[in-house]
Amino acid sequence: MSQRTPIGRFAPSPTGHLHLGSLTTALASYCHIKSLGGRWLIRIEDVDVERCKPTYTTSILQDLENLGLHTDGEILLQSTRTAIYEEYLNRLSSLTYHCTCSRKDLSNDCIPAMSFYDLNIKDLNLAPIYPRRCLHKALTHNKIRLCLPDVLTAFYDGIQGVIWDNPARSLGDVVAKRQNNIINYIIACTIDDGLQNISHIMRGLDIMPMTVAQLFIAKTCGLPMPDYFYHLPLLMNADGQKLSKQNLATPIDTSTPDKVSDLLFTALSLLCQNPPPELQKEKPNTILVWAVENWDNTPLRGAVLGVR
Ligand code: GLU
Ligand code: ZN
Repeated sequence: MSQRTPIGRFAPSPTGHLHLGSLTTALASYCHIKSLGGRWLIRIEDVDVERCKPTYTTSILQDLENLGLHTDGEILLQSTRTAIYEEYLNRLSSLTYHCTCSRKDLSNDCIPAMSFYDLNIKDLNLAPIYPRRCLHKALTHNKIRLCLPDVLTAFYDGIQGVIWDNPARSLGDVVAKRQNNIINYIIACTIDDGLQNISHIMRGLDIMPMTVAQLFIAKTCGLPMPDYFYHLPLLMNADGQKLSKQNLATPIDTSTPDKVSDLLFTALSLLCQNPPPELQKEKPNTILVWAVENWDNTPLRGAVLGVR
């Protein structure tokens, strides 16, 4: 295993304010990488300019600042890096093709995606597999698809265990660039994780299906690969639904140190870290120091985090 400095990151998409769910992801990745003596970076994943708003970027960065979760390096804004992603897409050109199919065109002949693991989470519904109608056509359309390999592969996840998957069967030829010229998440994220030398990726379980695509893209582009993946159980509300912007997860309020202490304490409890009750009354920084010193991934294995 490589000896490079551990580097982790939190990579929010600014499509809404920070909420308890995204706070737990930020806090877990921060505490984990700091407990390894590593560096923690913030990256704003705002390639999708139609869904992401600068006001959310500002508010997320302000909340992280108020929480005491400071970046150890430059904060990358993906919206400023399109030329880099285009260059890497060019490098992948022998594996990409243009596609003119609309979702409607495909409604009749899509192949259901195969799921290789049973996580029993509704949100993990995979999109149907694209039937490669445009594979051998010489088109010049904006939309570009990337051929993912039909090979059973595995990676070790520090929380979920060994994960087997076949990217061609679970994801198919993913859209790398959309019709509106927006580069897709998995391309931008993989390139930046590589260029930023990220060694430890800790993120929500909803993104786990993308991991095999990420590994393939990084390898094909000759980018450094992350050494470790950790996919955090999702935060559920009392009805067993994923807590997200879609079901109106309330934005967190970090305006006073007392509120920040409460939030950090609640997030640590949700992350099964069992903070001692007296810690809640402490200053935010004291709570963070405790959290880093005591960080433990073990109780997250097999857990479905719940709001208590
Ligand atoms: N930007 C993604 C999100 O907010 C997370 C990407 C990642 O951590 O890989 O859902
Ligand atoms: Zn097509």
